[in-house]
Amino acid sequence: MKLKRTLSIIKPDAIQAKFQGKILDFLEDKGFNILAQKRIKLTKSQAEAFYEIHRDKPFFNELIEFMISGEISVQVLEAEDAISYYRTVMGNTDPNEADEGTIRKLYGTNIQCNAVHGSDSEENANNE
Ligand code: GDP
Repeated sequence: MKLKRTLSIIKPDAIQAKFQGKILDFLEDKGFNILAQKRIKLTKSQAEAFYEIHRDKPFFNELIEFMISGEISVQVLEAEDAISYYRTVMGNTDPNEADEGTIRKLYGTNIQCNAVHGSDSEENANNE
């Protein structure tokens, strides 16, 4: 089967907690190829554009402040069915609801500080 790509972000909470290495090891153990990686700090306008779809949500401002609170690490991941596979490996948005053995269960703190982002569609993966 053809390998596909998705975009992953290790969020500020996980970078701050020094979980980056563990998460990258975990991703390689799960079979992802890490094709590219960059450590960056989003500007407010970049974070707002990235989460534009959530602009009307009550948690939007808090989410933006969180995403710009520290550096993030962005990866291009490759695997079979990378987008849906990564969503499974990542786990539920809320770490308390996430399955055992998922990244968010292992390394997330709460529904906002949930360690990682993964694209939810091919269109978004390409855009992001
Ligand atoms: P995802 O695709 O699983 O990341 O979930 P969403 O697209 O629904 O939400 C995007 C991000 O917004 C999540 O990963 C969280 O960081 C944050 N978020 C989602 N729901 C809530 C919420 O109810 N409260 C807060 N504070 N943040 C949330």
